[in-house]
Amino acid sequence: MDIKAFMQCKKPRRSGRLEGKEKAETKSKELRQNPLGYFDMLPIELKFHVLHFLNVEELSVLTITSKSMRNLIEGYRVLTPAMQEILAKIHTQSACLPVPVKKQSDVIRTFQQMGLLMKRSTCLYSTRDRLKFVTEVLTKIMCSNSDKCENLAGCIALNCFGKFLHTVIAGWDDSECLRVFDAVCHHTAILKNVKIIVNSKPGKHTQMEFQIRAFFRRVFVDHCHTVQDRAFWLSRILKQWPMVHQARLLYVLYGPAVEGEVLWYDVCESSPYNSEQSAAHFNELANALQVLHCYPQEWSEDDIISVLDELTSLPDEWLAENIAHLLILCGDNITSRLLVSKAINGRIRELASITTSFCVVCVKSSFSLSYAMTVVQIIVDTLENPKDRQSYFNNVVEMFKELILDTHEFSDPDDTHENEMFFLVTAMSEFTKKVIHVAYKPLLS
Ligand SMILES: [Zn+2]
Repeated sequence: MDIKAFMQCKKPRRSGRLEGKEKAETKSKELRQNPLGYFDMLPIELKFHVLHFLNVEELSVLTITSKSMRNLIEGYRVLTPAMQEILAKIHTQSACLPVPVKKQSDVIRTFQQMGLLMKRSTCLYSTRDRLKFVTEVLTKIMCSNSDKCENLAGCIALNCFGKFLHTVIAGWDDSECLRVFDAVCHHTAILKNVKIIVNSKPGKHTQMEFQIRAFFRRVFVDHCHTVQDRAFWLSRILKQWPMVHQARLLYVLYGPAVEGEVLWYDVCESSPYNSEQSAAHFNELANALQVLHCYPQEWSEDDIISVLDELTSLPDEWLAENIAHLLILCGDNITSRLLVSKAINGRIRELASITTSFCVVCVKSSFSLSYAMTVVQIIVDTLENPKDRQSYFNNVVEMFKELILDTHEFSDPDDTHENEMFFLVTAMSEFTKKVIHVAYKPLLS
């Protein structure tokens, strides 16, 4: 029988000490099994306060330690004002650029780390959900959404977003990247603006053109590490439009520009004086064409030639010298393709004009004329009919004559045209020497 039946007034003796010990043991066992350990004892405000002392990179490393930690940091990332502050500050920071370039790259690195944080903390989410997070950041960072952004041309906000985006999507396959492109374009409605500018006169919407240039380059193309990557994103930007619009868009992206404005009519009115000026004007365009040329999956030789053909008649026919400048920068592969295509189609006058321009550009840039002679050789080899060859050479000489007479007629004694005349005459005489050398080679050596 229980003793309590005899001594009802007495409670059984029980030690609080043992009970406490037992409780503490259970608690510590629980804590040890909890994924966040002792950290879990803190209330959420304190947890966030502790996280506040970590930088973005440290946070991103923490996200891959456990699921609970990832959830915690995900919550911190969404709720904490610190991230919003970085986003808000970026436009004003840009206003004081150029700070030392090192500082600029510090800002961009912060976004790279934020990208890493986003990539790691959302790694279990679907692509659609991840894209939602990405576009949310874009909304906050867009220059047009910030009243603090005063100078689009010098603002690095989009560069920062580009770095962020490319960090998040590193390693994604092409079909996912296509979804990224569609999502970002859809979110910003940028394609509506592209449609407006490709359908109106070049230079009509100066600001919109530059916005498009800045957006596509800074967000998609500038942060690519490989030629293949660049070609992929450039193809996404261009391929959805008809050929004539692709050329227009390519010029908007990489044509000569100054102080936030794409220069359209310069290519039809004047040409660079030396190779530095030429590089400053045409290097980016030539480079973009080379990149596309290295991407045969989506760009056939014919595509490249067609784009080049359209490009050099924008907004009107380019000066022949500028075409030569661009071709020299594009390199031998693209140049010989273009020449062969023109020769096959019997466009002899255009070929003659390209030849004379090559000679003039070589003289002006102090290059050897043998480069121009390679051009001549390709053309002569491709033209099958001796009559066509004859006509080609006659056209070249006639073209020189026309150019010289024109320059003589329109020259102004106070102007710098005298130089122009000197270059033309030198080009013609050098060309003649070279041709004579080739023609009489057996007798001259
Ligand atoms: Zn801005």
